[in-house]
Amino acid sequence: MENKKIFVVCEYKKNQNVFRDVSFELLSAANSLSRQAKEEFNFDYKVYAIVLDCGIDADFCQLSRYGAQEIIYLKNEKFRHYNCCHYSCALVELFKDKKPDIVLFGATNVGRELAPLITSSLQTGLTADCTALSLVKNKDEIKLAASRPTFGGVLMATILCKKNPQCATVREGVFQKKEFNCMTLTSEIAQNDEVFAKSPIKLLQFLPLEVQESTFENAKVILCGGKGLKTRENFEKLEKLAKLTGCAIAASRGAVDKGFAPQDIQVGQTGKTVAPQVYVAFGVSGAIHHLSGMSASNVVVAVNNDPNAPIFENCDYKIIADANELIENLLADFEA
Ligand SMILES: Cc1cc2nc3c(=O)[nH]c(=O)nc-3n(C[C@H](O)[C@H](O)[C@H](O)COP(=O)(O)OP(=O)(O)OC[C@H]3O[C@@H](n4cnc5c(N)ncnc54)[C@H](O)[C@@H]3O)c2cc1C
Repeated sequence: MENKKIFVVCEYKKNQNVFRDVSFELLSAANSLSRQAKEEFNFDYKVYAIVLDCGIDADFCQLSRYGAQEIIYLKNEKFRHYNCCHYSCALVELFKDKKPDIVLFGATNVGRELAPLITSSLQTGLTADCTALSLVKNKDEIKLAASRPTFGGVLMATILCKKNPQCATVREGVFQKKEFNCMTLTSEIAQNDEVFAKSPIKLLQFLPLEVQESTFENAKVILCGGKGLKTRENFEKLEKLAKLTGCAIAASRGAVDKGFAPQDIQVGQTGKTVAPQVYVAFGVSGAIHHLSGMSASNVVVAVNNDPNAPIFENCDYKIIADANELIENLLADFEA
């Protein structure tokens, strides 16, 4: 059987010595594609995890656990801090050399920056922000069918790329992490400095931002506040309730646009995709653009004072009530 290659560009949280969950999700997705290739088209994809760093402390076994058959570790001091030019120069050279058929990136800040830089250098196609991946036969070729919401989320577009590598960025939280426990080969490549010569960016100084890594993507219970909360102070009460109950906090775009919450906790088409055990929406109308980011939640509870709010068509439990009053009562109960 022919052996083709899927590369997953992994992201590593340097300050925490762990890989981002999206790396495991993509390895699992790559393995599902590999299984489909074997069952339907009688060929194999080998799944590679690609890691760039200067000396990594994270556990590579985790990559094997989620299905990396081979890890290619590019090592260079220049990878100590993320720099899109250094990373993209190195990855372009790697892809030219190893010729992967498919490359998957997380649709994270890093992936959304790196993937277009690389695909434009390689003059190949990129499907951004995908929510589904499969293989299809097209004119005697087996192609990656990468699907993503389009026209404001009312349609799904499935896009095939003419050239290899066929590249896609995939939203966080869309694919489940699945354990495969592969026997993994690790190749450490000392990245030579010559590839960085073309980089137009020189790092003069590194100033770390005091930003807290958002945790709500992996939270079990999320409390989401919408524009129906009406004020920033009311949104802060929901934040307090989330803290007291150990839940994560999220916001609709309506709430973000009103300045109640920062954009990095927005859920929906232009925000994050989440799939918690329980999602409780307070004062959220349930627009399609919001639903597309949370519809994979196990149980959805909606609190809205309008009995005809669209979110009530898309939830498991509806509470017709004033969301702010309910939050006040819950806070009083927990603080008592
Ligand atoms: C291309 C595009 C991308 C988008 N991306 C996103 C996205 O990523 N995420 C996102 O969320 N939206 C997104 N939107 C916007 C989306 O269409 C909606 O406008 C937005 O989700 C509305 O936010 P909301 O539900 O908080 O506000 P509203 O639609 O104004 O709803 C407020 C709700 O609160 C209820 N309410 C009012 N007072 C109370 C009260 N006291 N108690 C209880 N309920 C109350 C109302 O009945 C209403 O249902 C996008 C739009 C476009 C065009």
